[in-house]
Amino acid sequence: MVDMLPRLAAVALISAALVPAQNNWFTPAILKEPAVAKALESVDARSSAIVDEWVHLVEIPSPSHKEQARAEYMRAEMEKLGLSEIRVDDQLNVSGVRKGTGGGPSVVFAAHTDTVFPASTPIHVRRDGDILTAPGIGDDTANLMATLEMFRALNRGGVETKGDLIFLASSQEEVGLLGAKHWLANSGYHPDMFIAVDLASNQVWYGALRISQYKFVYTSPGAHTLESRGAPSPAKAVAKAITALYEIPLPPLAQGIDSFKVPVINVGMIGGGTVFNAIPREAWFTVDLRSLDSATQDRLATAVVSAAQQAAEKEGVGFHAEETGVAIDYSKGLPQSVRLNQPVVQTAVAVANFFRRPGSAEIKPADVGSTDANNAVALGLPAVAVGAVLEHQPHRLEEFAEASSMVPGIKSLIALAVSLTTH
Ligand SMILES: [Zn+2]
Repeated sequence: MVDMLPRLAAVALISAALVPAQNNWFTPAILKEPAVAKALESVDARSSAIVDEWVHLVEIPSPSHKEQARAEYMRAEMEKLGLSEIRVDDQLNVSGVRKGTGGGPSVVFAAHTDTVFPASTPIHVRRDGDILTAPGIGDDTANLMATLEMFRALNRGGVETKGDLIFLASSQEEVGLLGAKHWLANSGYHPDMFIAVDLASNQVWYGALRISQYKFVYTSPGAHTLESRGAPSPAKAVAKAITALYEIPLPPLAQGIDSFKVPVINVGMIGGGTVFNAIPREAWFTVDLRSLDSATQDRLATAVVSAAQQAAEKEGVGFHAEETGVAIDYSKGLPQSVRLNQPVVQTAVAVANFFRRPGSAEIKPADVGSTDANNAVALGLPAVAVGAVLEHQPHRLEEFAEASSMVPGIKSLIALAVSLTTH
């Protein structure tokens, strides 16, 4: 037992050296300040109304590029909040500013309005005790609701911050983080920090996965089945290319980044042909390539494109590659240790752990990201992704979330917003 003390002290010293304590701007004392305490209590009082509104919001269909209804909902709520400079841009991003008193950093809280589900998807929230089930219940409607309620609570408490708080209800997140990318480039705002509210509440991400997506298309004049023997076939080229892609050697799995298995190459869609009895005139497939750093990504991207091209050459069919617009230029991105130690990240980790479900595992920051925060990371802007509720199985029809996690989640956003903007 005696021996334990010096060892514990040594551990404390090491972690203090790795993570400068002054970079965590959250202290629990901040929650006792009268205005903040009032804001927090006001959330408890509204807990069932918040869940009702969350359900309502989920049932407003909002596929990417068709976010009009949710965008209009958020615009109207921003009006009611009394935010200034409320704008809906040409990509359906909605933003508004809660002015600070001056002298503090300006912080964006971004939650996206779009979902991955087509407009035809029936969306009805099923309630079963604490579990709410519906497509989009978590990603990202829960966080959109939580962010909205965070702004309302600040108003109810009369909380004054030094820095501005910018509410961004972003569009087209699910199709390549496009809305926030457009907003950061064109809104005219130069925020000091960017927070994507787009995860489960037991996750904090401070990095950015590199993402490249391709569609490879193979073509031929086509021929009847009876004339197809030995003839060049786009279908065979697709088969050969996909086989070759999955044989590209991948580096070892990155560790400590949630459950993700990266780097990874995934074929997500395959298509082509129109009838049983002919060589297809066209066949195609898509690739989603993700890794942790630009060097690995570039190397794998070269291997992917050349494997796809070689399959066309071997088969003697036409070929072209289309790259989607999701690629982001990370040349201005900051090194990992710099990003990790930014106040926005250290404060987010401290807040997430303070509000995490009692008895649950400690939340550790992960150097990954596939949220709107990627765009900020790419610009070298201090950025983090956090979440407000315990949500599960995003992007699936069986998606579900734990209703009772919403109130502590909103409180954690209040704590984060106040800590960062009053420092
Ligand atoms: Zn999302």
